[in-house]
Formats: sequence, C-alpha cells, structure tokens
Amino acid sequence: MKGAELLMNRPDHHHHVRRVVLPSGKTIEVVYFENEPTGAAPRPLSTPSLPAPDDTPDLHLCGTCDSELVYPVTWDEAGATHWEVTLRCPNCEWSGTGVYEQHVVEKFDEELDRGTEALVRDLKRLMQANMEDEIERFVTALDGDHVLPEDF
Ligand SMILES: [Zn+2]
Repeated sequence: MKGAELLMNRPDHHHHVRRVVLPSGKTIEVVYFENEPTGAAPRPLSTPSLPAPDDTPDLHLCGTCDSELVYPVTWDEAGATHWEVTLRCPNCEWSGTGVYEQHVVEKFDEELDRGTEALVRDLKRLMQANMEDEIERFVTALDGDHVLPEDF
C-alpha cells in the first residue's frame, strides 16, 4: 500500500487525487497532499487532526469485568510527564501495571476523589455502626460483671 502511494506521488505534484467507488456506486475523490513526512501514509482530508476530548482512558474501569472500582495499588513517577501505576480490581482480582500520561492519571485522580467521597460516607456510616456495636458489647459486659475495676 505504502509502495503504491510512493509510486503515485510525483515530485512535481503537490497533491494527487484518488477516486474511491463506494458500495452504493457513488464515486468520491480523496485528495492527498504531499506535506506529510516522507514515508508516512497520506490521510484523507476528512480525518480530524485533533483527538476527541474524551479519548482519555478511564483507569477506574476494569477491562475484565467492567467494574468501576479499579484503584491504584502503587504509583511512581516515570519521567516528568508519566506515571507508572499498578492497578487492582477488587471485583475480579484483576491486577496490572502500566505507564500512563499525566493527564490520564489526573483524570483517574479526579475519579478516585469522587469515589473516595462516596467511600468516606460509607466508612462513616460503618464506623458509627461499629461503635454502636462496641458500645453494646461494652454495656453487655458491664451487665454481666465481666468488666472488673482492675480493667481500668
Ligand atoms: Zn474487574
């Protein structure tokens, strides 16, 4: 494919046109310009040059079980703009290490913040429940004379 493109590119031409016949029978013309680096495959003009804004991978999503609870086990700086992150999914026990760009990790961090807020709410409820449990046990122990003055 690349060889054919090179044959079609002539130094005295700034661009060349390729006709593409669609399955419907319609013919479109795709214009290739020669401002691409040598050897690079020409791109159709309709290809957007900027990536979509939401193409950042979601690290909190598990690729194995679709859980949204993937969290970082460790993360270390990997150069000035990248992070090496070890991830773990608590749902299916998937675990993996990858090097991710700063903005990917930042997005993950924001997602974790949202998750942490929910977690802290749960934890507070849980702590309250645990304390009530503790108090009940303590009261039961008092009632049963299991707590002696020497314990204090
Ligand atoms: Zn999983």
